[in-house]
Amino acid sequence: MPENTLNTVTPLVNLGDMDRETMEQFFAGMGEKAFRAAQVLQWIHRRGLADFQAMTDLSKPLRARLATMARIAFPEIVNIQESADGTRKWLLRTQDGNCLETVFIPERERGTLCVSSQAGCAMKCGFCATGQQGFSRNLSVSEIIGQIWIANQALGYYSDNQRQRIITNVVFMGMGEPLLNLDNVCSAIRIMLDDLAYGLARRRVTVSTVGVVPAMDKLQAATNVSLAVSLHAANNTLRDALIPLNRNYPLEELLAAAARYSLAQSGESITYEYVMLDGVNDSERDARDLIKLLRGTPAKVNLIPFNTFPGAGFRRPSQNTIDRFRELLMNAGIITITRRPRGEDIDAACGQLVGRLAARARHPACGASTAVPLRC
Ligand code: SAH
Repeated sequence: MPENTLNTVTPLVNLGDMDRETMEQFFAGMGEKAFRAAQVLQWIHRRGLADFQAMTDLSKPLRARLATMARIAFPEIVNIQESADGTRKWLLRTQDGNCLETVFIPERERGTLCVSSQAGCAMKCGFCATGQQGFSRNLSVSEIIGQIWIANQALGYYSDNQRQRIITNVVFMGMGEPLLNLDNVCSAIRIMLDDLAYGLARRRVTVSTVGVVPAMDKLQAATNVSLAVSLHAANNTLRDALIPLNRNYPLEELLAAAARYSLAQSGESITYEYVMLDGVNDSERDARDLIKLLRGTPAKVNLIPFNTFPGAGFRRPSQNTIDRFRELLMNAGIITITRRPRGEDIDAACGQLVGRLAARARHPACGASTAVPLRC
């Protein structure tokens, strides 16, 4: 019987949804010792197992008991694409038929996994393909952490005896606004940072937000990971037009929240993402406004050349314009890098994730061959 069928008939608790504390409570509820949680967390996340029978340091009766009350389930892979530059994108499907995308970006000294936090996005930023498709729902903890588990499986991490870390960094820069799914995102981050699971350094996990101000303070208190802010405009008029949420949390409030975040981290830099849109936010005047806005704050700027998608009403500026913009910022003492677009040929670059099948790949189950937003 396919696993999905089994799960819908028997509502078993999913251990893939649990960070250490939640799992300790679960085992306590079973009358078991807390260290069972440590054992099971390691089996799942360090060894890549989803089968209680293979957890050989648990007694046979405990394994049998677990199988009657719990399961370990992550989304399933619908499609995998590999870019000419080595970037890989997985299209995943949740049990209730929502689709999400995860992207792995290999670089010389690191491997970055770009994870999704929601199926779709409610923010409606005009230049983002995810925003155009609408919002379905928040992802659960297992659907978020499952993206690392699945990528680790596919990249051969669990079958490599050396256990050389392949995913060294995680960025919440896939589909969705992570700070509108704060509880699940924080719980998934705790699993990422837990030595019994993925053991990532907190600075190597970055949450990118469009600027949900109250949640920024909460994220800092709960996880203290790195923060990236999608700025994209240096004045409220333009930012209101590009990012509807700016009307709720204008630039002054956003920058104040970023300053608090940085202060709580003893002055660590905040990364400001700035998508370069031809003729919209790429002039010398825009650069000067940006410099004024960020002067004196611990800031790094990531310029993201606009990545296009069908129906986009924007264009990428010329390389000259992007280089000039960067130079102005650098001359003002602001560390600025231009993000090299990765995985463009498989629509895996920033703002291109929409949770659909590429037209050329037919869905094995439903046979869809055209764009299927969100549900596939
Ligand atoms: N919702 C969060 C997480 C998404 S991160 C946020 O907005 O920060 C994805 C980054 O890519 C964001 O900075 C986003 O603004 C940017 N982006 C969106 N669409 C893009 C596009 N078409 N080209 C380049 N960058 C884009």
